[in-house]
Amino acid sequence: MKKIPRWGKIVLSAFLVIVLLLVALFGRTLLDATHIDPLATGAITQNVHAVQTGTANFFLIRGDSGYIAIDAGDDKTQAEEGLYKLGISPQDIVAIFLTHGDSDHIAAISLFPNAVLYLSEYEVQMIDGTTNRANGRFLLLSRLMGFDVNNPVFPYEYLTLTHNEKIEIDGVLIQGILTSGHTPGSMCFLVNERYLFTGDTMSIRRNGRAASMVHLFDMDSNQARESISKIATIQAQYIFTSHHGYSDNLDFVFENIRDN
Ligand SMILES: [Zn+2]
Repeated sequence: MKKIPRWGKIVLSAFLVIVLLLVALFGRTLLDATHIDPLATGAITQNVHAVQTGTANFFLIRGDSGYIAIDAGDDKTQAEEGLYKLGISPQDIVAIFLTHGDSDHIAAISLFPNAVLYLSEYEVQMIDGTTNRANGRFLLLSRLMGFDVNNPVFPYEYLTLTHNEKIEIDGVLIQGILTSGHTPGSMCFLVNERYLFTGDTMSIRRNGRAASMVHLFDMDSNQARESISKIATIQAQYIFTSHHGYSDNLDFVFENIRDN
């Protein structure tokens, strides 16, 4: 066998060190990302529809005369196609409740000309240019890959919600529950005391259990963990995530967390 020259060994060692470093820094993120599995566009219950845009879902809840949207998707064209498939006109969306301001949850806002926009008062800092989205390893990853995760300053008008605030629109009762961690103002929405929409506060893993979304994307991991414990106490019939499907068995989803 031919001997590897000295310079070759140095290059090989350097390469291995870089690979090991990247695995140590981002291995868990890669593993977390393999769990991402959004729902196909379609009806989940008689009153709740999922729309798939890219890797994210947004949801539509039937009201008395129109629909309430939870988030507004990752891609405007796909959102438009999804609504067409469901036979719902974008004009009929009367309100959008944003779980948070990340780009994969807001892309189709301008598709809905009649919708009033709501988000947590603590999330305003994420859409008005005050607080940077990426920190630590996430910032490093965004620099390495050459993308900017900060949202441009929000061009839309909106109303803000406080923790536990309840609001009734088009015959639908929505309660905002502040679940900081993924972003400072991330909010879950409990609709008609029956449907719990969690955005990116948590994921439902393939084993059917609650876990963090993608660790690296949480701005404050400790807060994110506390927020999952907080929503584990909520009684609802269905729980929906933005990237990991839904469940109609909250006892099972939260079993490990409720027991602790
Ligand atoms: Zn997301």
